[in-house]
Amino acid sequence: RSAKRDRTGVVLWTAGDTTTHRADLRQLTELRTGIRAGHLRLHYQPLYSAGSREINGAEALVRWQHPQRGMLPPGVFLPDAERSDVILELTDWVFAEAVHQTAVWHRAGHDVPVSVNLSPAYLAQERAVPTILALLELERLPARLLTVEVTETAVLTRPDQAAARLAEIRAAGIRVAIDDFGTGYTSLGLLPELPIDELKIDRSFVSRMHDSPARATIVHSVIAIARALDLTVVAEGVEDEPTALALAAAGADLLQGYHLDRPQPAEQLEAKLGQHPAGRHASIR
Ligand code: C2E
Ligand code: MG
Ligand code: MG
Ligand code: MG
Repeated sequence: RSAKRDRTGVVLWTAGDTTTHRADLRQLTELRTGIRAGHLRLHYQPLYSAGSREINGAEALVRWQHPQRGMLPPGVFLPDAERSDVILELTDWVFAEAVHQTAVWHRAGHDVPVSVNLSPAYLAQERAVPTILALLELERLPARLLTVEVTETAVLTRPDQAAARLAEIRAAGIRVAIDDFGTGYTSLGLLPELPIDELKIDRSFVSRMHDSPARATIVHSVIAIARALDLTVVAEGVEDEPTALALAAAGADLLQGYHLDRPQPAEQLEAKLGQHPAGRHASIR
């Protein structure tokens, strides 16, 4: 992979795929300025215990509060950021903010484990692990309350390096999750070797699994594998009650999806901590 610096100072990484996608350089420069100006926000989407429907974690999801264009979802700016050094600055901000918020909740008596998405380029840095550990120390946050989510692709690009870094992260007590599981190319044989605690089944399998026998079979198999390997299983993209019930019956540990709750500002989630379970039929189950 080679790097080139554009006029504005943004370093673009090229991996031989220059023809397929042209980065929006103006937006990238603007994003970097926005990060420094404090325009990023984190929304938190709760993870619910499949059985009790109690909040048992939250995923931090970045948004860009753009002065003219409004609140932008990550799909609009992350793909370009991930092809440049802007992702490093963005990830530094996300970790600092998420660890701070989690520590605030912890001090208030709410032990909510928070999951943060970790980009491959960030993990590839020598300083990745020391930086995260220093943050935990600064905020006095127990490592068990932080989970990092990596995709299969992140692990497979540089398998040895990534596995070593993830092992270091785990050794410190931070949890490691494989995100969007099932969409990449992890060979099942590799799974027992990976230093991970959690599998997040991608929402393409989960959504409407109740009316697709093929998807339901895949979800059941992943849950069986995860249980055999003693991994926590999270189902993402739970959009209706039949799916939530089917996942609970199949043995999923945690549920995440619009049916249970949307990504939301920290204050909004905080109001729900230690309160009633979610889901239409939760109270009669
Ligand atoms: P992800 O990590 O798989 O996060 C879950 C995404 O699914 C979120 O989209 C969430 O809003 C959405 N979602 C949750 N429940 C449902 C549902 O029931 N139905 C549907 N259709 N969607 C649901 P979002 O916030 O737009 O984030 C998209 C992706 O951007 C994330 O996918 C993650 O890969 C990436 N991302 C978000 N924040 C960060 C970040 O801080 N750093 C990095 N590196 N990536 C991030
Ligand atoms: Mg994620
Ligand atoms: Mg995911
Ligand atoms: Mg996903």
